[in-house]
Amino acid sequence: MRLHSLASTPLTPCLQPGTPSPAASGVTAHSLRAKNLSLVLRQILSNPGTISRASIANYTGTTRATISRLVDELISAGLVEELAPSSEPSRGRPAIRLQPQSGRYCALGLEVNVSTLKAQLIDLSGEILAFTSCDNPVLGDPATTMAALNTLGQDLLDQYASTPLTFIGSALALPGIISAEMVAKAPNLQWENLPLNELLAPITNLHPRTVTNEADLAAYAIAHPRPGVPGGPASFMFVSGEVGVGAGLVLHHAPFSGANGWAGEIGHVCVDPSGPTCKCGATGCLESFLGRCALARHAGLPETTPPLAVCAEAEAGNETAQAALHQGAIALGRALSAAVNITDIPLVILGGNLADIAPHILETTQEIMSMRILQSAWTHPQIEILEDSANLAVTGAAHRVLQDLVDDPACYIL
Ligand SMILES: [Zn+2]
Repeated sequence: MRLHSLASTPLTPCLQPGTPSPAASGVTAHSLRAKNLSLVLRQILSNPGTISRASIANYTGTTRATISRLVDELISAGLVEELAPSSEPSRGRPAIRLQPQSGRYCALGLEVNVSTLKAQLIDLSGEILAFTSCDNPVLGDPATTMAALNTLGQDLLDQYASTPLTFIGSALALPGIISAEMVAKAPNLQWENLPLNELLAPITNLHPRTVTNEADLAAYAIAHPRPGVPGGPASFMFVSGEVGVGAGLVLHHAPFSGANGWAGEIGHVCVDPSGPTCKCGATGCLESFLGRCALARHAGLPETTPPLAVCAEAEAGNETAQAALHQGAIALGRALSAAVNITDIPLVILGGNLADIAPHILETTQEIMSMRILQSAWTHPQIEILEDSANLAVTGAAHRVLQDLVDDPACYIL
């Protein structure tokens, strides 16, 4: 495995895909080449195994000679490979199809959560090369947690030490609000005002390039199901429940993360001012009704009770558990109504624990939304359930790093 030089790579705290890199926004010959290389690479990533030089030339309105030169550069850098010509009889010379080279350029997605640490290695073709996880050893001690994360990530990279893989860096997903300089607040990790250089010191050999809210990165994975390829619904809110409740917003395939990158804190939308005190210090937050521990507590069960077990209690006739789920459904409906009224994003995708309990809360939540969303008669707000969202954040983290390569492949061509 080789490491691409990252000495001049800045740490980027917020998602800004679609924003041209400085090198791609000018008009120099170098920047024009960089822009064209990115355009060709994106075409190949979007149509792997079916696209040819001729079809790229037709699509872009560029000469075949120019496209061939750019494709040759991408091939020589190991970003793209040719497939064998089709053996089917046809008139003329068969087109040589192109695809991203698998197992060559890779990025590491990292995640710290309340109970779990994760690392996942993904290559440019979108193939998951390796995944591993372990328990978070301790809460409230970032150095110990990050040392364990470093071991986890390094173990994955070591598996590929003798391969031709080029490692381009990692991105870290956290449940909190993160500025350009620090983790401002991650209440469920018990981290606050934690400088990023201090946080990342134990994982410098994993070359972290981005530290971003976990729900934002999960939404990014939905909006970019393969590296460099926008897909899925154009605009949506991904709302996920774990210990806390968070959201990642996507507008026209681009993350909508607010002025400071802190948008989406739906778990702290007030749904009842006289409600219970939240970990953030306010009262009546959505999270204080539907967070994993809060839901169990309202159901009269131990805080460690999983949401599915709360549902099982409700189905068995436990009226306290039924009331907790009903109260949670109302709380979610109020919070989602506020979010849709403000953002005009009528598609909500539920993940994590919220997907687990959806059959028990959806009807009430949707009734509340129909009543409270002003534009509901015209936009017909929808809720979709994502059955398996467990590793979306760590996938989005790796895809985010690979997007940098797609935006400016010239940086990777020697
Ligand atoms: Zn709160």
